[in-house]
Amino acid sequence: MAAAAAATTRRMSRRRWPAERQEDARDLGAAEDEAAACYRRADTGKDKLFEPDLLAAFRGAVDAYARALQEAKRRDDDDDDGFFLLDEEEGCGVAGGVGFGVDEDPLEGFETRCPPGGERAVVLYTTSLRGVRKTFEDCATVRRLLEGLRVAFLERDVSMHAPYRDELRALLVGLDDAAVPPRLFVDGRYLGGANEVVTLHEQARLRPVLRRAPRRGAGDAACAVCGGAWFVVCGACSGSHRLYDAAAAAGGRVPCTGCNENGLVPCPLCS
Ligand SMILES: [Zn+2]
Ligand SMILES: [Zn+2]
Repeated sequence: MAAAAAATTRRMSRRRWPAERQEDARDLGAAEDEAAACYRRADTGKDKLFEPDLLAAFRGAVDAYARALQEAKRRDDDDDDGFFLLDEEEGCGVAGGVGFGVDEDPLEGFETRCPPGGERAVVLYTTSLRGVRKTFEDCATVRRLLEGLRVAFLERDVSMHAPYRDELRALLVGLDDAAVPPRLFVDGRYLGGANEVVTLHEQARLRPVLRRAPRRGAGDAACAVCGGAWFVVCGACSGSHRLYDAAAAAGGRVPCTGCNENGLVPCPLCS
């Protein structure tokens, strides 16, 4: 375990490069590959799944990852600006900056409804319950569209985590839309459900709307911590959602406050 923590720490120090070095955003994918390659999968059978050191290292890794994303996005924005400047000069031949910066924000027309932590992110609310077949298939459709565009997005499965369900309900308050997944939010704007997203795609408006979103590289592996499940088993209660408290009634068992009703916590690296 100590060796794993040390490896994680070493990896983190290597991953601080984005703040210091100016490299292509594609290197972010390479760093992720490297991280995935040297990560040893956690053994969920052991009870000491989350050593404090390891958890601290994960938190550090999350911060480093967020910084790397931000840096990549900033460079992306710079590139965009350069592109539009060139475009204006060549296309209209307007001198002296008339029309300079006429860079319409494709998100302008969408209502501001921002999920927690979704100011600069693509957030997709989904469900993994197959109860209503259309809902399940709609979720798969929107997920496939985003994956096809190689967009890095946060998936929040409302069937796995009740707080996500409440979050979505609060986000859609005042709308006729029932809080039924899938629902897509980009940079704090509400794009809609499957119908709206598919229509945007058919009108070739989806890609522009997502142009500032961070990209996934072609060979990017799934998250090294949760393997793409978006959740990990709670370390405090080992997923039982119950803790032992000698002072409590009901046989000394109290609900674990660290996890959701399924004994899961959102992945510290990717959720
Ligand atoms: Zn993860
Ligand atoms: Zn727990």
